[in-house]
Amino acid sequence: MAGEPQADCLFCKIVSGDVPATVVRETETVVAFRDINPQAPTHILVIPRVHHPDAASLAAAEPGIAADLLREAGEIAAAEKIDGSGYRIVFNTGSGAGQTVFHAHAHLLGGRGLQWPPG
Ligand code: IMP
Repeated sequence: MAGEPQADCLFCKIVSGDVPATVVRETETVVAFRDINPQAPTHILVIPRVHHPDAASLAAAEPGIAADLLREAGEIAAAEKIDGSGYRIVFNTGSGAGQTVFHAHAHLLGGRGLQWPPG
């Protein structure tokens, strides 16, 4: 059922604590942890506790949680002191765009210059 934990989902296991992660923030609806393969000095994944396969599905089903996720990403950027120099919030959506974990997540990237367009 949409939103329910999925037994084969890595990020559901991080939410439940079955897989360890370097958690930087937890709220009632959102968990944020450091990416295991960082692409910038600050690279944090911000995820909903509920399982939806991508950001658009999350926003369609639970818009309040999607808003929580974006607000928390901004607050983490300030806490990590990357807001002054600029940061990026990325939702890879679909394998063609590089999505590898099909539990909605925002990449929060900063702490270095970020090029546009992205690769
Ligand atoms: P995607 O490619 O946009 O789906 O992003 C998935 C991200 O999860 C990648 O940046 C991975 O490096 C990251 N990742 C995979 N496994 C773990 C883990 O166990 N802990 C933290 N990050 C992970």
